[in-house]
Parts: sequence; structure tokens; C-alpha cells
Amino acid sequence: MKTEFSLAQLANPDIAEADKILRACVHCGFCTATCPTYVLLGDELDSPRGRIYLIKEMLEKDRPPTKEVVKHIDRCLSCLACMTTCPSGVNYMHLVDQARVRIERDYRRPWTERLLRAALAWILPQPALFRASMILARLGRPLTGLLPAPKATSKAATGSPTLLRRINAMLALAPMSLPAPGPAGGSVFPAIGERRGRVALLQGCAQQVLAPRINQAAINLLTRHGVEVVLVRDEQCCGALTHHLGRDDAALGFARANITAWLAEAERGGLDAILVTTSGCGTVIKDYGFMLREDRDFAAAAAKVSALAKDITEYVGGIDLKPAQPRGDIVVAYHSACSLQHGQKITQAPKELLSKNGFVVKDVPESHLCCGSAGTYNILQPDIANKLRDRKVANIAMVKPDMIAAGNIGCMVQIAGGTSVPVVHTIELLDWATGGPRPGLN
Ligand code: SF4
Ligand code: SF4
Repeated sequence: MKTEFSLAQLANPDIAEADKILRACVHCGFCTATCPTYVLLGDELDSPRGRIYLIKEMLEKDRPPTKEVVKHIDRCLSCLACMTTCPSGVNYMHLVDQARVRIERDYRRPWTERLLRAALAWILPQPALFRASMILARLGRPLTGLLPAPKATSKAATGSPTLLRRINAMLALAPMSLPAPGPAGGSVFPAIGERRGRVALLQGCAQQVLAPRINQAAINLLTRHGVEVVLVRDEQCCGALTHHLGRDDAALGFARANITAWLAEAERGGLDAILVTTSGCGTVIKDYGFMLREDRDFAAAAAKVSALAKDITEYVGGIDLKPAQPRGDIVVAYHSACSLQHGQKITQAPKELLSKNGFVVKDVPESHLCCGSAGTYNILQPDIANKLRDRKVANIAMVKPDMIAAGNIGCMVQIAGGTSVPVVHTIELLDWATGGPRPGLN
């Protein structure tokens, strides 16, 4: 794609990067076939190629984004299916990230949206606040019947969902009860028997409130196989949620704090890896090196942290797991989270681990399509998110599973909202298969 940035514009490293990305796009349109919003809405401007044109126009002309541009960029899930499909290697992720920052900086949203986005950016990264908000949301659940329900999406879909519809979506996602909090930062779980490794385990924000059992399963499995696990003190949110809201100052602040905390821990006791059980977080931590490439004080450290970051299944794949216990023929539908399959290109390892450990693993039809969770997307765009969830759940039902496994808490909550089949994390099943307890099926 031909671009027309001025030399002065190209002096800005972000614009230079955008120019490189835009030039790689040959506007072939292959990406449209796998884009969930294009598949649902059939509008070119809700496809990757359409969005690329909108972003190009906005950046080249260096003018504030219009309402129309914001609508179509907001509808993008950042699922990155387009990056998997693109034959030219267009880095859509870095382009849309930049567009979101530009929108956040230059576009004035209606006050209700500003309020909601500010609340999400404030509450979600803080587990104590998030826990309190979940309790409040649970109390508010009886009100859902009084609030506007999601609308059917179609080609004619216009505008943004109202604040009330978004609040309705938020209340619907709140669980009926919350488990007790898991272990605090600063906890160390020694290896059982001879120590073969030492890792940090990301505590996560929403996950530690909604499902501390996931990291507990990871700790059980790792320590049982000789790996010491550290929950690093002073660790913060990975920054993914604020990053996807276009609030890069906040996201980079989180990144710097984590880099400092993790590398201090590595200095103190050594770290073979920083393990992540929430693939949405993993994708962003693996991108810290890029996000902080222009920061003289942090660029090298950020690259180091990105290299240390691993999804839990990547690391566990390198361990000789204890022989599986026979479980009968439990059929597991494996839901491949977008952040894992498109963001980190991890597709086979989780399925192979489950198969090797005694589960009958089934691929889900249309597995490349997002479930609609996508960070805060299911709150901000509930109509599209619900459609995608229903489509995902219908596809999962086709393989008639006993359980659904996924590697991302957002997907787990989203899918569980549409099915009675138990949804568990891949690591819970692996822990169970290698001597741990049966996963909590909620
Ligand atoms: S598939 Fe790649 S090159 Fe083709 S239009 Fe999409 S982003 Fe551009
Ligand atoms: S990230 Fe997902 S929703 Fe956004 S343009 Fe790419 S495929 Fe479509």
C-alpha cells in the first residue's frame, strides 16, 4: 500500500512503524474471511482491510479521528485472526494499538463512555477493587431484567451500545459467588524433591479474583515436578486492559513496574521463566520489548522480560510429566483463545499435552473465530460479543464435549455464560491428570 507521510511525520518512531506496516499491506482482502466482525456485519469498514484504510487516513492526514472511524476501530476485537491469515505479514496489532492511543488522545467520547472507560481502567487492574465491584454487581443482578437487552447485530447495526446496555452486560458477567482469595504476592512455593527450575507465576488481576484455582493448579503441577514457583511481590497488572483501551501511559507504567519487580527477583533467586496462565496477559508481556523500544532506561530490560515470558503450556511442554492416571474417555473441546493462537502462535502444545495425558481432545469448528470476550469488549460491545459467544457455544456443542478447556480466563467466563458444560483451564486438567485434584467445575 502506497503511503504519503511527510519526512517530518516519519521522524516520529510510531509513524515510521505505522508506515512500515501499511506498506506491507497489498490490500488483497484475504484477512476479511477470518475477521469475526466482518463475518458478522459484512461491512468492509468492519474488516481488517477497511480498518487499515481508516487508520492510514487518520495518521496520514494527522487529523482527529471522526465518530465513524472510532465506531469501526472500537468494534475491532484485537483478536488478531487477521494476522494469522495475512500472507504479507502485516502487523495489524501494532497498527490498531497505535490507532487506539490516537483515539484516546484526540477524540472526545460522550461523557457516559468516558466515565465507563475510566471506571474499567481504574477498577480492573486492582484485584481488591475488582472484587468489591463483583460483589456490588452481584447485588445488582436482579436489575438486569429492567435494563435494555442486547440487540441483534446486522449489516444495519449502527452507533454504539448505550451505557445501560453495557451495564446490563457487566452485571450478566458477574459470578453468583466469589472464591476465597489465593496466596499473596511474595509467596514462594518450594519444589517437591530435587529442584529442577525456578519460575515466577503472573498473579493476574481478574483471574486471581474469579478463579484462583487456576494458578493453584499451576503451582501444584509445577512444584510436584520439581519447579519452585514465586509470586513476585510488587507485581502489578500486566497492562493489557489499559493498553487495549488506548491508555498507554497507564499500560507502560504497569509494564515498567513489573519489569523492575521481575528482574529484581531474577537477580535475587534466579528465574528460568515468567509463566502466564492468562494468554491475554501473556501476549502483552511478550510485547513489552516492542512497547518500550524507545525507552532508553527500559528497552533492554523489557526485551529481557519478553524473552522470559512463557505461556504455562509452553513451559509445561518441556517438562517430563508424571505418567497420566487413566480418566476414562473424557471428551474435551479445546477452545483456542485468540491471544494464544493468533497472538502467541501457540496452537498445538495445549492440545498435545491434553491428549498425552489421557483426554480425548476435539477441535472446535470455526476455532479461528473469537468468542467475543476480548478484554473489556464484552462490556463495551455486548451486542457483537453475545453473537460471537452464541456462535462459539453452538460450535462447541457440535463436538459433544464433557468439558471445555481454554487458556484464558476471559474466554472461560464468556463461554461459561452460554453453556452448562463445565469450562476449565488447560492447566487444571493437566494437574488433575498428573495427580492433582479434580478441577473445580464452575
Ligand atoms: S490479508 Fe494482509 S495484505 Fe491482504 S488486505 Fe489483509 S492485511 Fe492487507
Ligand atoms: S483483530 Fe480481529 S476483529 Fe480486529 S480486524 Fe483483525 S480479525 Fe478483525
